[in-house]
Parts: sequence; structure tokens; C-alpha cells
Amino acid sequence: KRGKNLNSDTLVSELLNGNITHLSRAITLIESTNPEHTQQANAILKKCLPHANTSIRIGITGVPGVGKSTFIEAFGKLLTAQGKRVAVLAIDPSSSLTKGSILGDKTRMEDLVKDKNAYIRPSASGSSLGGVARKTRESIILCEAAGFDVIIIETVGVGQSETAVHSMVDFFLLLKLAGAGDELQGIKRGIIEMADAIVINKADGENKKAAKLAKVEFERALHLYPKKDSDWIPKVSLCSALKNDGIDAIWKLISDYITLTKSNNHFINKRNEQNKFWLIQTIENRLKSDFFNQPKTKAALEEQLQLIEKNKTTPFAAAEYVLSLNKSF
Ligand code: GDP
Repeated sequence: KRGKNLNSDTLVSELLNGNITHLSRAITLIESTNPEHTQQANAILKKCLPHANTSIRIGITGVPGVGKSTFIEAFGKLLTAQGKRVAVLAIDPSSSLTKGSILGDKTRMEDLVKDKNAYIRPSASGSSLGGVARKTRESIILCEAAGFDVIIIETVGVGQSETAVHSMVDFFLLLKLAGAGDELQGIKRGIIEMADAIVINKADGENKKAAKLAKVEFERALHLYPKKDSDWIPKVSLCSALKNDGIDAIWKLISDYITLTKSNNHFINKRNEQNKFWLIQTIENRLKSDFFNQPKTKAALEEQLQLIEKNKTTPFAAAEYVLSLNKSF
């Protein structure tokens, strides 16, 4: 027992010194489903919390092929060139469904990977988006404790993952492409509403004209949304991640946002709201897994599922029965 404590003390002090190997180890503990690791991870998190909350957290989303990794590489290099330390974490909802992942590919961001001021962590794996999101959130805390100034949370634009990312970042950036027919068709309304900036990537070569047109369309569309609590008016920007064109303007835009929201307190209020949301989420997740992991629940559920199949009970009666086995639920 003493050995283990000593171990996590060393881990924490190395992590606080910015040691990336130890940061990685701590994140691995967070991602583990082994109860002993979870306990150790919680102890580490607790020690890291007083050193967290210090970074700018940026969410980046877009469909596969839009240029997320090319963009993050160019953006990340811009920041590390300014002496900032940049961490990239990914939420990949596909990895839990298909085992193969869209974001976890190690060959992405080859230059940034080699940068000593950058840390790239491939997607956490997990059986549910909720679980992956929680792990990513805890990893943010560890990265902040390790002294990272900017944390980028990347997600692929499918399913509910954008909402999860939005709930853990200060600034939410939507990457888009121009020239794919009607610009506004097929975009989920909710995502546009969450965006603090829409960046149209691949605005280079023959694509440039279409990109400019798309910009006008998006600006028009954004006007239709109600004003944000932050007082920030979402911006539409063009860039070419490949040619490294327009990337600095996007950092400028994010800096303006941070300045505005820090001065009107939206920044801190939003983080508070996010913390409250995550408190409830954590309780919900814990209750759910505690409940479903009970042997008697498992057995009864199995039995009731079979009864449903044979049409011998209703979902409601079955649920009532399974829930009644455990007084605390
Ligand atoms: P991701 O799936 O969203 O991460 O997209 P990638 O960054 O892997 O990019 C997909 C493809 O688009 C690659 O072949 C990139 O080289 C290309 N690409 C990315 N950004 C740009 C850009 O600004 N201009 C052009 N012309 N191609 C780009």
C-alpha cells in the first residue's frame, strides 16, 4: 500500500513538472476500467485539481476529411512557435462502436507529434460516449496540471459527440467545406448554434471563390440565431490549413473571444455551469454503472429480457421488477 502511494506521489510531482511520460501514465490510469486503477486515478486527480483550470480549452469538430488534423497541426505549430504548450485530446464516438477509430490514427499530425511543446493523445476508448467524455474531461485537468496552455478537444462531426465537447470547452470551432452544394443543407441546426466560429477550410486554389460565397451564406445563417449569453457574435472565417493561410487570424479571433468573455465574466460563469453539469453527469454515470453491475440486477435483467422476447411481460412491468430488487434505486 505504501509503495502504491509513493508511486502516485512521484507520478503527480513529475506530472506537475510537465513530464509527458508521467502525464501519459496518469491518463492511462484514468482510461482504465480496473477498479484499483480508478482509485489511483482519483487520488491523482484530486492532487492535480488545485493546479487545473489554467488553460484555454478549444473544441474543434467537423466531418471526416474536412481537414481537422491538418488544421490542428498548423494551428498547434503556430501556438508552439509562440512558446505555448499545446495538448490535443480526441473524442471519437466511432471507436467504441467499430473498434477501429477515425481519430486515433497515429500517423496524423506528424510534425506536431515531434514538437516538444505539444502533446497528442489519441482517442480514449470506451463502451459509451458518456464514459469517453468523462475520461477526456479528467484528462483535461491532468494536462492543465502538467502546464499546458491550450487544450484542443477534437471530435468527428457525427452523433452526440459535439454536445459532449461543447460542454467541456471555452470556445467551440466548427470546420466546414465550401462547394458541397447547398451550404446549409445537412448541417444540424444544433451544431451551428453551438459554434463560436465557423471556419471554412480548403479556401485555396480553385476552391477559393466557392469558399467566399459559403462565408456569406454562413454569415447570413448565423444572423438568424438569437444573441449569445456571451455577447460574442459568432464569426465566419476562411483558411487553408494545407497552405497555412489564415490560421493566425483564427487564433486572433479566439483571443478576442477570451478577452471579451473574461471581461464580462461569461468565461468563469460558463466554466461554473459546465462543472455543475459534470457533477450531475458523474452521479448519473456512477449510479447507472453501480446499478447495472450488480449481479442480481444482471440476472434479473437477463430473465426479464427473455420474458419480453416471449411477450410474457411489458417493458414497464419488467423495469419495475428489476428496479424493485434494489432498495436504494
Ligand atoms: P480530417 O479527417 O478532418 O482530420 O482531415 P485531414 O486533415 O486528414 O484532411 C483530409 C484531406 O484534405 C487530406 O488529404 C489533406 O491534405 C486535405 N486538406 C486538409 N486541409 C486542406 C486545405 O486547407 N486545402 C486543401 N486543398 N486540402 C486540404
